Amino acid sequence: MEDLLKLKGKNIVVMGVANERSLAWGVAKSLHTAGANIIYTYRLERSLGKLTKLLEEKELSTDNIFQCDVNDDNSIHKAFTEIGEKFGVIHGIVHSIAFAHAEDLKNPFVQTSREGFAFAHDTSAYSLVAVAREAEPYMTEGGSIVTMSYLGAERAIETYRVMGVAKAALEASVRYLAIDLGKKDIRVNAISAGPIRTLAAKGVSGFNDILRTIEEKSPLQRNVTQDEVGDMTLAILSHLSRGVTGEVIYVDSGYHIVG
Ligand code: NAD
Repeated sequence: MEDLLKLKGKNIVVMGVANERSLAWGVAKSLHTAGANIIYTYRLERSLGKLTKLLEEKELSTDNIFQCDVNDDNSIHKAFTEIGEKFGVIHGIVHSIAFAHAEDLKNPFVQTSREGFAFAHDTSAYSLVAVAREAEPYMTEGGSIVTMSYLGAERAIETYRVMGVAKAALEASVRYLAIDLGKKDIRVNAISAGPIRTLAAKGVSGFNDILRTIEEKSPLQRNVTQDEVGDMTLAILSHLSRGVTGEVIYVDSGYHIVG
């Protein structure tokens, strides 16, 4: 299998592990089985503590962890310069980051403030562009960049509000980045994941109803797991998906195909 994936020893940056429930942690677990060299970034000290504990529990190295706040250009530049200088080549990036102000996820979309709209887009969509730009000089052997999206990008899911609009910008950014970076054999794709209980999901009201609807209506009649998202992300990072770029790949029990 390792021969098919061609990820053994490859330097993959995983951004967005806040705790063991994070989608990024699911990806890290899959990458670990494929023998990749995983480099982590975190924003808050709290996440660093949780990440370090998770790695220690699995007896994995805690050497490759870098601070990176995607709201801050200097922080992104510093993180990727340090990563690039330490590892030489970056082969892949997992961007698993989103954030909006609590009130903008709670109040009707029409109430979204100018600042709240900009902040959600800055953190959840523009950050992919900034990260891709800072990583590009080190992606000298081609590679794969994967981000995490949700169905609210293309459908009006009432409780997803400003985050749905930010995800639409994120998915469009995937397509435009795919054009620019394809010339260097760097692929850019999004995974559109079904709902999974994580810290970020806590901000979305009516989350239980969303989970129940998937069980009732999706072709597979169940919700997806962190491991399933991790494994598909692994495929999109790997040699198996070398002809795929600019895509949104659904890991949602097929829910998006039904009414
Ligand atoms: P999570 O809370 O575990 O992860 C979100 C991460 O974003 C955290 O690690 C947080 O530290 C990071 N982050 C926020 N602002 C940041 C900043 N300024 N700089 C650096 N990092 C920052 O939740 P999750 O559900 O694993 O979310 C990961 C991604 O998956 C998000 O893009 C989310 O929208 C997407 N997603 C989640 C679901 C779901 O149901 N959980 C479904 C589809 C897509």
